[in-house]
Amino acid sequence: MSRIIGIDLGTTNSCVAVLDDKGIPKTLADADGERTIPSWVSWAPNGQISVGQRARRQAVTNAAATIYGAKRLIGRKVNADDVSWFARLAPFRIVAAPNGDAWVRVHGQPISPQEVAAHILRAIRKTAEEALGEPVTRAVVTVPAYFDDAQRQATRDAGQIAGLDVVRILNEPTAAALAYGAHRVREGRRIIAVFDLGGGTFDISLMSVENGIFEVLATGGDTALGGEDWDRRVLERIVDEMFDQYRVDLTTIPMAMSRLREACETAKKALSIDRETTISLPFLANDQHGAPINYERTVTREYVEQLTKDLLDRLESPCKRALADAGLTPGSTNDIEEVLLVGGMTRWPAVQDVVERIFQRKPSKGANPDEVVALGGAAYAGILAGEADDAQLLDVTPHDIGIKVGDSGFALVVPRNSMLPVRARRLFATTTVDQKFVSIELYQGEDKEVAKNRKLGQVVLDDLPKGPAGSVRVELIMTVDVEGILSVTARESKTGREASVTIRPSGGLSQREIVEIITRRRQESSHAGVLPGGGVRATTQEHMIAKPDDDDET
Ligand code: AMP
Repeated sequence: MSRIIGIDLGTTNSCVAVLDDKGIPKTLADADGERTIPSWVSWAPNGQISVGQRARRQAVTNAAATIYGAKRLIGRKVNADDVSWFARLAPFRIVAAPNGDAWVRVHGQPISPQEVAAHILRAIRKTAEEALGEPVTRAVVTVPAYFDDAQRQATRDAGQIAGLDVVRILNEPTAAALAYGAHRVREGRRIIAVFDLGGGTFDISLMSVENGIFEVLATGGDTALGGEDWDRRVLERIVDEMFDQYRVDLTTIPMAMSRLREACETAKKALSIDRETTISLPFLANDQHGAPINYERTVTREYVEQLTKDLLDRLESPCKRALADAGLTPGSTNDIEEVLLVGGMTRWPAVQDVVERIFQRKPSKGANPDEVVALGGAAYAGILAGEADDAQLLDVTPHDIGIKVGDSGFALVVPRNSMLPVRARRLFATTTVDQKFVSIELYQGEDKEVAKNRKLGQVVLDDLPKGPAGSVRVELIMTVDVEGILSVTARESKTGREASVTIRPSGGLSQREIVEIITRRRQESSHAGVLPGGGVRATTQEHMIAKPDDDDET
């Protein structure tokens, strides 16, 4: 059996790790020596597909066909609030697939986010195969704790398209805790906070660990807050200054904006160590008289902190809300024992100060925040393969599962964080005289209002025996197996008549569609230069949201 790799498939960057010969998780570098790759995919007009840093470099010249943030779309409906928000900002088009899923449109062709993610996973797989010198076919892939079944299944499907058997989907905070060895502490229950500030998103998770069981107590965050906001603040200030000084509007010069954006990020990273740095960009633009502007400016950490103070403030309330949801008070003796930092932006000293203030303890800095999730994925892969220590780690249901009651209520049947496999029963009674059938609608989510949760399916039991309201009883039995497959049976108590339904998590693509994508991809690789298209995409009807029908056609 080939080794199982651990993959952190991130919103901004991705990373891969594997256990080394001594059983220690190690990240793997690609041919350029990089241990993280930008989660970007770009389609050149001639059909050439680039991934990672090469794709990101096309963000200016080929913006409409250069996709980032596919993780924000995977397994999501196009009309979800944060998808609409992302669609308004993104320079590429986000469109609705026939089933309402959020897809992207590249050179006129709709493409599922699963397929975009598959390109990233394929690049990661290649990195791993080259580093290990052996074929890689199995992976543990991490996802945010709040991902629902559809998002998790869509991530698995992306793996399948990339030729990877995703043996397990692992929660990112659990992965971070594993990388810190939290599963090895055998005695008692520990509570851990995982503070994850990446390039574009902020997630806070509070979890408990006891005997190998990781329980998510509360999650929160801000999907519109990340390191890029810090970069943008500095960039906007420089753009204003340039305009005041030279009357040049840099926002109209894409190449200058691209260079400036990169320089601002580099300066920010330098300032997380040094107090002062220089941004130097020769020939950035021409002034009004056509003379070149050689831009140079010293920036201090203090200055960037002033520009971004409100961003820091925005970290606080999601943490407080999560603490309240989990019933925890920072500073009290038996509460949070450890705060783990994840995401490159947690290297920023002011962010670490905020974390310390909120949780009233110094965060642990033992692991590299860009790599810690992938390292945890590899540690888990080792546990699954029996290579690592004999720690056990149990899978749990990520969300409540229940049924619709009355017009809009949600009745809980299987609570979230139930260890898999799990079985639960509930008894219901008819509500009308001689009721002929019951139709039980199944939902996943935490909201008391059923419409705000995700519908999974329904089970209908008919030919009920006659009788007054409340006299006929129907027992509902729900089982979720270790693979997360939900089976539901409704049984009328007197006659034993029953109806069942099995619900496999669906990420939005059918197996047939996945196989078609794989086949098309193979054909494309053997006919370099062919435009993306054909197969399922060519026949897909779609309507657009947010973006006018203008610039990206070829
Ligand atoms: P991630 O999504 O976890 O890869 O985090 C990427 C974000 O972390 C980007 O906004 C980076 O600019 C930021 N980042 C990476 N290294 C540093 C650093 N040394 N100081 C400040 N921010 C950093």
